[in-house]
Formats: sequence, C-alpha cells, structure tokens
Amino acid sequence: MWNLTPDARGDLDAILDRALTYANGLPVYALSAVERGAVHTVYQLYDDLLGQPHLDLAPPELNGARQALQAAYDQVQVGGRLADLRVRLLASADICPYCGFGEPRDLDHYLPRSAYGELAIYPRNLIPSCNPCNNAKRAIVPGLDDATAPGFIHPYFQTLPDQDFLRADALYVDGALQVSFRIDAANIDPILAAKLQFQLDRLKLNERYPKRINTYLSEQRVGILQVGTIGEAALRTFLEASATSLSNDFGRNDWRVALLRALAAEVDFAREPELYLGPLQRPVA
Ligand SMILES: [Zn+2]
Repeated sequence: MWNLTPDARGDLDAILDRALTYANGLPVYALSAVERGAVHTVYQLYDDLLGQPHLDLAPPELNGARQALQAAYDQVQVGGRLADLRVRLLASADICPYCGFGEPRDLDHYLPRSAYGELAIYPRNLIPSCNPCNNAKRAIVPGLDDATAPGFIHPYFQTLPDQDFLRADALYVDGALQVSFRIDAANIDPILAAKLQFQLDRLKLNERYPKRINTYLSEQRVGILQVGTIGEAALRTFLEASATSLSNDFGRNDWRVALLRALAAEVDFAREPELYLGPLQRPVA
C-alpha cells in the first residue's frame, strides 16, 4: 500500500514515436525537434517536482502538440499501439497503491490528462490502480479541481516516514465489529498527514474496508479461534504478533497491520471472537 517502484523510464522517444505514428507509418502528429525537446524537458521536470503540479509542465512550446499527446493515451488502451506499455505498468503492481487491496486494472493519470495533455502517456504519470480508486480519485490535484484539497500522495515519488501512521479503531458489541481507519498525525509531517487523511476520505476507504475485513478475518478464522480457546491474553498476544509479522512483509502501514492491532486492543473481541467468527468446528474423531 501507498508506494510503488517507479517505471524505469526506458526509451521515451520510442514511446512518443509509436504514439504519434499510425501503424501504416504515416504521422498522427509530426513532432518538431523543438517540441520533442520540450516533451523531454517536461518529463524531467515532472520527475524533479516529484509529480507535483506546476505551470511549467504545460509550456507554450507544446500548445500545438498537446492535443495529439493527450489523444495518444487512447493508444495505451487494450488493442492500441502502446498496449504493451499498459501491460507492463499493470504487471508492476500486485495491488492498488491507493487502497492496498484492489486489483490494478486501470491506469490513473496522477496529474490529470485533461489538464496536462503532455503527460498523458508519460509512464511515471500513469499509476496502476483499481477501478473504484481510479473513479473516486478522478481529476483531484491541488489547485485544479479544488484549490483547498491537499491532493494525493504520489505512489512513485512520495517518501514515507518509517512511522506507524495508519491506525484503526475497533468497536466490538454483541458480535458486531466496527472498524474505522484514520491517519495518526502524531509523528509525521502535518502536510503529509493531511494528504493521507484526504486520500483515505476521498477514496471512501472506511466504506470499502468492511468487506475486506470480513474476507480477511474469515481466512484467519481457525487460527484466531484456536488461540482464543487458550484465553483472551493469548489471543491478544497472537494478534499483536501477527500484526508484526505482516508489518515485516507488507510494511508497517498496511491496513491489515492496523486492523490486527486494533483487534488486539479491543478486549471484548479477544474475549469472545466466536461471536463474530462463529464457533470453531472441531474435527469429528
Ligand atoms: Zn484501489
């Protein structure tokens, strides 16, 4: 969750040429040398700015080519001349970096295609994401869609502090489990915390997690119930240990880590997990 390894930029001229040349070799749009240089400058600036918006990302030199570059994204779709770029980018992520559980099937334009046509086919502006996240994010960029919105973190470029910032609170009453996630700003930069919280809210993750929590806890059901038979303290220790193990594998701010810690802290869950998970079926002797 949160971060992805950036695409190795590869041969950007080859991508531009395929994007702007029909299969029969005729040009869709013939980039001049000045325009080609300007595209490279914009791509480099995008990296230098860590993907954050800037007026210089839409230079006047590209006024003529912008529309063709923007339309060229159609070639990144299935069946297009750059379909292999789509396949490569989607293959680079196992899970959606925005939610941490969805399957990446879409490419999200981190800086929206509508505003930054010159970045429409730049691989590092294309974020493998699940469909619900892509739809929920839409054209959110600070200063564009909503000047007051903190914006999203950039999955390729954002450096995250080695601190626990994703927290969950669990409430367990009569077998009904309510979990809500939030960003704990205590030990991280307040601007980053605002972005992470905005992202959590904008993607409606607290509405989307319960289904995942249900599936995930069903998968862990037998282990939790087995340990639960030993006692409440043993189960809380088990949940903490499981959280630490997951944290080592998937990162300390994985949603499952926060979930298990919240469950370990909710004494009522540890006391009677079967109210939620159902009774442990003992094998017939
Ligand atoms: Zn997602």
